[in-house]
Amino acid sequence: MQILKYPHPILRHKCKPIKKIDQELRDVIAEMIETMYAGDGVGLAANQVGLPLQIFVLNTSGDKNKPEEEYVFINPVITKKFGGFTESEEGCLSFPEIHAVVERPAEVVLQGAALDGSLQQFRWKGLAARAVQHEFDHLQGKAFIDRLLPVRRLEIRGDLEALEREFETNRQLGVIPSDHQIAVTLAEWEQKWCTP
Ligand code: ZN
Repeated sequence: MQILKYPHPILRHKCKPIKKIDQELRDVIAEMIETMYAGDGVGLAANQVGLPLQIFVLNTSGDKNKPEEEYVFINPVITKKFGGFTESEEGCLSFPEIHAVVERPAEVVLQGAALDGSLQQFRWKGLAARAVQHEFDHLQGKAFIDRLLPVRRLEIRGDLEALEREFETNRQLGVIPSDHQIAVTLAEWEQKWCTP
């Protein structure tokens, strides 16, 4: 799996709910977890690796030797937000080298299915609350840059433009498929796991 970078269009794709969890999907999720660790991330959403599916993986310790802190959420929903707002710096594997301060609710309740299909629900605070909101946003086609104050967005504009130029170059080289080809691939994945 390859982590796709801004402004790849799949980062703007609204991921579809999973209708069936089978062994092939579990293998895909295991690979997502490996990819998260390989990228030194604490979370990874499915569309960051090209999958239009409502799945994210998380380990806020960032340490693959702490599997007890590893979570998989399928079809996640944020059911409550509370504790006011807090500000902290965020980064994202799809925006390499870019960091910015984002304001978010301090605590959330997030529920979703686990790998075995059972419903799990947790109340999150601190870094974990921030991480689950960041990953949940990805599945809605949103990125952390959408939540920046205009002045902070201005500060990273040059870095974003550099990524946009890199993307254009890769597209001209054929490294990144056309929008049409991407849409065809996404429809295949959705057909496989998002239809009953
Ligand atoms: Zn991210």
